[in-house]
Amino acid sequence: FIIPVITIDGPSNSGKGTLCKVLAERLQWNLLDSGAIYRVLALAALQHNLVIKDEEALVPLAVHLDVSFIIDQGQLVVFLEGKDMSKAIRNERIAHLSSKIAVLPRVRDALLYRQRAFRTTPGLIADGRDMGTVVFPDALVKIFLDASPEERARRRLQQLQEQGFSVNFKHILSKIKERDERDKNRITAPLKPAVNAFLIDSTQLTIDAVITSVMEYLKLIF
Ligand code: C5P
Repeated sequence: FIIPVITIDGPSNSGKGTLCKVLAERLQWNLLDSGAIYRVLALAALQHNLVIKDEEALVPLAVHLDVSFIIDQGQLVVFLEGKDMSKAIRNERIAHLSSKIAVLPRVRDALLYRQRAFRTTPGLIADGRDMGTVVFPDALVKIFLDASPEERARRRLQQLQEQGFSVNFKHILSKIKERDERDKNRITAPLKPAVNAFLIDSTQLTIDAVITSVMEYLKLIF
């Protein structure tokens, strides 16, 4: 018996996170937010005053990283060494640093087995950049969720405004494009759709429409 995995890859603010949470709830499957692991590693690196390019130092930190997750009232709670860091990892600085760490091949390697350990019964929804291409190449279903950089920046702007931050659209857009470039152009595990991935462009779609189209697609498979 092979434990089934559904991978959902794509750039930031494409709607992956919400889609993954809804799928995990509806199927009652486990959820892996792989981006949160890279973010927690970036936070741990800051706490240890490590230089973000220092692969020698980052590899052991990745191997021993004490990261764990729980889902509380539908929200993912992320712990580093038992402390709730859910808020501390969701900012532009950590996003930027995590994408710099994510180019390092040996760091990615060190996180590979840790990510695969989330594959437990009855199944796994895996959210990231390389879930379908590298981490779970034998996944049952692979989805690639995209949207234009402008639309993703608009969504991010709205999120930040709802949290009470005053932010500039152009600044957010340039940060999104910069992170996209780094994620797409790195040598190891670049962001790209897996072969046979079901591609969805959510630029013109509501999250409900995305969920409906994925549920329809899953009906064809299950
Ligand atoms: O998805 P999220 O924005 O939380 O990811 C933060 C960063 O972690 C991404 O920009 C990417 O560089 C890296 N990442 C990755 N591979 C994954 C998930 C995230 O390289 N599977």
